[in-house]
Amino acid sequence: MTLTITVHRGTQAIGGSCIEIVAQNGDRLILDAGRPLDAARDASGLLPETLDVHRPATVLFSHGHMDHWGLINELPASWPVWAGAKAAELMRLSTELFGGRIERPIRTWSSRSEPLAIGGFMITPFLTDHSAPDAYMLLIDCEGRRVLYSGDFRAHGRKARLTEAMISAPPRDIDVLLMEGTNLGTAKPVITEAELEERFVELARETDGHLFVQWSAQNLDRTVTLFRAARRAGRKLVVDLYGADVLLRIGQGTRLPVPGPDFPELRVLITPGGKRLYDRQGRADYITRIATSAFATSRARLVGEKAIIMLRDSMLRDFEQGGLGFSTRDAYVFSNWSGYLDVGDPQSGWARATAAGASCHRLHTSGHASPGDLARFAAAIAPKALVPVHGISWDEPGIALPQVRRLSDGEVWAVP
Ligand SMILES: [Zn+2]
Ligand SMILES: [Zn+2]
Repeated sequence: MTLTITVHRGTQAIGGSCIEIVAQNGDRLILDAGRPLDAARDASGLLPETLDVHRPATVLFSHGHMDHWGLINELPASWPVWAGAKAAELMRLSTELFGGRIERPIRTWSSRSEPLAIGGFMITPFLTDHSAPDAYMLLIDCEGRRVLYSGDFRAHGRKARLTEAMISAPPRDIDVLLMEGTNLGTAKPVITEAELEERFVELARETDGHLFVQWSAQNLDRTVTLFRAARRAGRKLVVDLYGADVLLRIGQGTRLPVPGPDFPELRVLITPGGKRLYDRQGRADYITRIATSAFATSRARLVGEKAIIMLRDSMLRDFEQGGLGFSTRDAYVFSNWSGYLDVGDPQSGWARATAAGASCHRLHTSGHASPGDLARFAAAIAPKALVPVHGISWDEPGIALPQVRRLSDGEVWAVP
C-alpha cells in the first residue's frame, strides 16, 4: 500500500470538486466537497457515490465558492472540516442568505498559520489569487510524498503577486500537482483587475449619469476595482445591504473598503427587496444599524447624483419604482462571467437598459488563470505527475504541461 489519490468529481467538470487522499495508515483527507454548478438549489444527495462516508475523514475547503464547499451539510457530522477563517465566514453568510445554516463548527486557518498537522498529514495553506477572497493552494506532506492542490487560482487579479511568488520560489520536490484548468481551450480575455479599473474610470468619466454595474458581491477583487474607479472618477460606490454585509463580515482587519468613516466614498443603498432579504434572516438589527448610519443612502437621494451602483436583475423593479430606472444618460455594465448573461431575456438588466437607451458594456476578467499562466505555473512546480481537475478541456489542453496523469472520476490511483 502507498498513498492514494481519488478525484471523486472534477476530472471532466468545472465545479463540484471533491478529491480524496488516503495515507498508508488509512488516514483520509478530503479536499473540497463542492456543489456541482448545474445542481438545482434545493437538490440534495449530491455527494459523489464513490466517496465512502462510513469511515472517518477530515475535509479541507480551498475557498469560499460553493462549487468547492456547497455539500458541507451533507458530510457526516463526525468529520472535522477546515477552511480559511474568512472563507468560513463567507460560507456561513452564503448559507444564511438562503435561509439555511451551517450547524457544525468549521475549524480555521489564517494566511499566516503554521502548517497544520492532521493525522499523518502535514498541511501548508498558501493564500492565492482568485476571484473569491481567502482562497488557498494546499501543500500536503505525507509519508515522504508531497502533493500540491492548486484550488482555483489566477495570476492577473489584485493578489497576483501571491501566485508569482509561488512561481518564482516554488515548493520543491512535488510528486503530484492537482491543478485546475477552467480556462483551458478558451480565449477568454484575462486583463488584469488594474486594467479593468482603468476601463471603469474611463467609462465613468464619459458617462453623464449613473454607472449601474452587475457584479458578484463576493468577488471582492472586483469590489475593490470598482471602489478605486469610483474614487478616481469622483463618484460614490453604492452597494446594497448584501454587498455591505459581505464587506463588514469579511473586510474587518483587512485593507478592503468597509462601510464606515474610513471610506466616505462607499454608500449602502437600502431597498425594499434588501430589507425583505435581511428580515427573513431575522436580522432587523442589521438593517437598523445601516439605516441609521452616516453611510446609508436611498434611491431618492441617488436621483440626480452620479454614482457607480451595484445592480442585480432582482433589484430592477425596486430601482424603477424608486425613480432610479435607466435613462439615456446612464451606462449599464455586466461584470460577471458572460455565461450568466442572457441578453435575450427581457427581464434582464441588459435588456431593460438597452430599451431605455442606456449604453451597455461588458467589463470583466476571469477569476481563473489563463492557459499561458497555467503552463507557467505547472512548469515552475515541475511535479512528477500533474493530475487534471476542475476543467473540461484537459484532453486537448493546447499548452505544454509536465507529465500528465489523467484520472477518471472515482478512480483510485496509487501514487508511484
Ligand atoms: Zn471552482
Ligand atoms: Zn473558485
